[in-house]
Amino acid sequence: MKIDSHRIEIEETCKPEYIEAIKQYWFLENNKFINKPKALGKLFGFSAYEFGKMIKSESKFFIKIQCDTCPKIESTQVNSQSNFAILKSELYDSKTKLFYCSKCKALKEVQRLEELENQKAIHIEKQNLAIKNQAW
Ligand SMILES: [Zn+2]
Repeated sequence: MKIDSHRIEIEETCKPEYIEAIKQYWFLENNKFINKPKALGKLFGFSAYEFGKMIKSESKFFIKIQCDTCPKIESTQVNSQSNFAILKSELYDSKTKLFYCSKCKALKEVQRLEELENQKAIHIEKQNLAIKNQAW
């Protein structure tokens, strides 16, 4: 997976003491967020949940990911680290180890269904043939 670019937006009304922690929260290394909300929240006496809530209300995170099979760049907004993990697992194919944009993913899904349909058709054809052979 190749991240084309990413950007953090911090609300103007955000308390200045939170800004560094927000940046830490959204810090990516090798496509992973390495700073956990539990540890970051400790500085302010926040639980991981409270810290996550602050992140959602005070910041926005935008990310652009390059599709592995077409030139399209998928740009999306992520509102938490776990949200990003879900997004990654949805667009990533563990079989091919490729990362698909939503368009390619939809296309792949259609192909998969068509393949299933074909297999089903072949199966039915074989069954019919077997019945016919028996009848003879
Ligand atoms: Zn694509």
